Amino acid sequence: MAPGDGWARCALGHRHWGIHGAAGLLLTHHAPDGAGWLLMQHRAWWGHHGDTWGLLGGARGPGETAEHAARRETLEEAGVDVADYPVGGVYTDDHGGWSYTTVLVRAPSLLPVGVLSGESTDVRWVALSELAGLRLHPGFAASWPAVRALLG
Ligand SMILES: [Zn+2]
Repeated sequence: MAPGDGWARCALGHRHWGIHGAAGLLLTHHAPDGAGWLLMQHRAWWGHHGDTWGLLGGARGPGETAEHAARRETLEEAGVDVADYPVGGVYTDDHGGWSYTTVLVRAPSLLPVGVLSGESTDVRWVALSELAGLRLHPGFAASWPAVRALLG
């Protein structure tokens, strides 16, 4: 286990992963044809909210920024290095005592991805038009309307 790994209970009474909160990377690509793409992870069935689609990410380390955690997890879980791309925005879903920060980064292309973690059964670029047909992680689904608005 890495520092920061562990369960937390928020003020709303949920159980969440990440003693210091969690962060995820919303990596998007806007194709020249106008289509929007989003990098998503299909979580293994045995995990918390298993068998759902959500963002790459995870628990923040002690004192670790959300931006750093989101980039680190994406590199660890999918081999995608986004260190060179600026953060285009952040959205924090604060439950009181625990928060999830979505870090928005735009990719210049559909970067190659891998599945490097046993927590994922798949990592792939999903067209925004496909999202409605996927079984989404409830946290992602709750944040999505606000995050979508930030995408412009
Ligand atoms: Zn909560």
